[in-house]
Formats: sequence, C-alpha cells, structure tokens
Amino acid sequence: MKILKFGGTSVGTPQRMKDVSELISDGQQKIVVLSAMSGTTNTLVEIADYYKKGNVEAAGNVINKLRMIYMEHARELYSTEDMVLKTIDFLKDEFMYLHSFASVEFSEVVERTILAQGEIISTNMVTNYLKEQGKKVSLIPALDYMRLADNGEPDLGYINSHLRDILNSQESCDIYITQGFICRNHLGDIDNLQRGGSDYTACLIGAALHASEIQIWTDIDGMHNNDPRIVDNTLPVRQLNFEEAAELAYFGAKILHPTCIQPARYASVPVRLLNTMDPTAPGTIINNEMVPGHIKAVAAKDNISVIKIVSSRMLLATGFLRKVFEIFETYNTCIDMVTTSEVGISLSIDNTSRIVPILEELKKYGVVEIENNMCIICVVGDLRFDNVGLETLATEALAQIPVRMISYGGSNHNISFLVREADKKAALQALSAKLFN
Ligand code: ASP
Ligand code: MG
Repeated sequence: MKILKFGGTSVGTPQRMKDVSELISDGQQKIVVLSAMSGTTNTLVEIADYYKKGNVEAAGNVINKLRMIYMEHARELYSTEDMVLKTIDFLKDEFMYLHSFASVEFSEVVERTILAQGEIISTNMVTNYLKEQGKKVSLIPALDYMRLADNGEPDLGYINSHLRDILNSQESCDIYITQGFICRNHLGDIDNLQRGGSDYTACLIGAALHASEIQIWTDIDGMHNNDPRIVDNTLPVRQLNFEEAAELAYFGAKILHPTCIQPARYASVPVRLLNTMDPTAPGTIINNEMVPGHIKAVAAKDNISVIKIVSSRMLLATGFLRKVFEIFETYNTCIDMVTTSEVGISLSIDNTSRIVPILEELKKYGVVEIENNMCIICVVGDLRFDNVGLETLATEALAQIPVRMISYGGSNHNISFLVREADKKAALQALSAKLFN
C-alpha cells in the first residue's frame, strides 16, 4: 500500500480538491493524508490568539469570515444538492464548535483543539466529494490512532497497533482519507505534530504499515538542487539518500518537514516527492541508496546566531565541552553547528529566546562573543572522507565569501558553512555555479 500526502495548496480550492480526488482515483488502494486548506491553520491560530487575549468578538468575526469562505467552497465543490446540504450541515457544526470556545476558559488544549479543525474540515470535504463521485472511500480519524508518548515523540507502537486495528475492523476500501498534523498526546488531549507536520503524519503511517512508498505531493517538481527563490535555473534532484534529505530539510529546503524523514528511514520505506501541477514528472525519490561521487544539493537556513567561547581553561582540560553543552541543554536550546580549537569553541543556534541566561552562564567559562544574522549553508552529497575533491569544490566556490565556520566530517553526507545572512545569496549562487553548471 502507498501513502500519499497532499499539502494545503494541493487542497487549497474546490478545484484543487477535485484535481486531487481525480489523481488518487486510480483504483489502487492507498491512504491519503491531507493538510488543511492553505491559510486555514494560520486563521485558526489567529482565532485561538484572540480567545487567548479574551477578545471574543474579534475571534467571532474571524470565525464568521472563514465560515463564509467554506460555505462558498461547499457550494462549488459538490454537484448534488444532497452533498451540498450534508456538507453545509457539517460545516455549521464545525463553526459553531469554534464559536463555543467563547464561553470556555482558554487553555493550551483549547488552542490545539481549535488548530485541529482545519484538517478535520478538509478531510471531510474531500471524503464527501469522493463519495459523491461513487468511490469506495473511508475517513479514518487521525485522533483515533496518531499519538504522542509522554516524551512528546510519536508513540510508534500505539500508532502501529491502533491504525492496523482500525483498518482491519472495516470493509476494505480503495481510498482511506486521514488528517495530517493532528494527534493526541499521552493524556489523550488533542495535540499536533507542529506546523507543517502533515508530512510527518504520512511518514509515520508509512513506517507503521511498512508501506511500499510514501508520496509527498506539493506544487514543485521534487527537491531542487538549490533554493529556486534565490538562484536561477535550479534543477530537481532525482534521488537523495535519507540522510541527505534529512539534512536538506533541516537546513532550509522548505519542501519537507525536517523530522519527517526519520520514521521512513528506520522502516526503509522510500519517500517520493511529487508535483500535483505535473503529476507525471518523476520528482525526487528518497531512499537508502548512496550515489557515489556527486554533490546533490545546497540549502540555507537563516536567523542563525553564533556564539564563541574562548578559554585558556579548555587547554588540556577534560569536561569543558560537557559544561558548555549542558548550559544549552538547561535552557532547552538546540545547537546546530560546532567547531572547536584547542582554546575555544564556536557553536550556532537558531533560537535565541533564552540567550540572556545562556550568555551569563557561559561567561563563567571564558570570554564570550555572539554574532547574529548569520546563515548556515548546507551542501549535501557524497562527502565521505576518502573520496577526495568534492569538499574542495565547495570551499573553492566560496572563495570570495567571508566564512565564519566550516563543519565537515559530522556525517558522510554534509559540509556546512556559516556565513553572514547578507552573503547568503552570493554564496548560494556561487555554489550553484561551481557545483552544478
Ligand atoms: N495545516 C498544518 C499547517 O499549516 C499542517 C500542514 O499543513 O502540514 O502547519
Ligand atoms: Mg573527501
């Protein structure tokens, strides 16, 4: 069985919903993971925000505006009066539910419950459309099987057994529709897999069921070898190793949710990135294969801060790095890049919300400097150490760019450069010119 995921733009209008429905109606059995219609989750965030601030009237106004849009969609999507009415009834209940939070004390659970409605609505609409088209379709609610363990990570055992039970308990269908992004936590409360998390849902399902393939459908032809918004003439990469794809997603390629690759990799289920605008284009396949001798792609991550700690105490001392890293752990701040010398360490972070206490504590260990507005440029491909020349090409490309840090050897697939955000465009262009032309 294949798992297909369609993002918000792919179901962003009634016409797009029809297109997706046509695309998935090829008679092959599949599970289809859908996002909310594009823009909806942002609007739900806005609604929750107004409730949080106690501004019930503003929340109500936004809900009513959204309601009108959806009522229009319902009239446009269906051809039978029956289905229009059925869906409008469903939408009325949904929007009444959103209004009902006006008289409830605000909490994080309320917020996450509000955020969950976008996917609940989109999946019901598409399911109703497929039913109207006479397809054998079933909607399986993600809230019945997608679950986080008490450490906040997906509970793979629970997901696996509950999803299988649900599928086994019903008559076999051609198309199973389910919600991306939403889940429950270990307490049973509604939660989510973080913004953009529908990719993650698809990969978790694919891994749980040992699917033959997970397909992530977007509106671009696969993963490109550089950022198409910045560099001209980027090209789709046809194949990526799981690790290469994970690095690219983490370091800026917007097409994939950064953590979504992990479950697919552990279960060895290939992930294919495909384009709804051009369904027959080959896209990008992500699997275990490693094509030797190539640099595959470049990605960039903005808003990076670099912290340097210089201390003569580091010289020949044990435990220095541990103390430094522990400070970041205490303040729940992830470190991306690290470089060390005998007397100092530089590291990069992308979340500076706890920077004040972090710097205070670091100062106990040496002289501390911080620079903001930096950017990580990540180059992925065959960068095994005994394969000479490829890392040299990447560094040569950046000959004219001030490079603050270089990280190489952390994996077989990656070399990262830290540069100023102001130099990002020039750096990405230079890399494309050198590596791909
Ligand atoms: N609808 C959610 C979001 O906008 C999840 C997703 O689209 O993947 O973040
Ligand atoms: Mg080498």
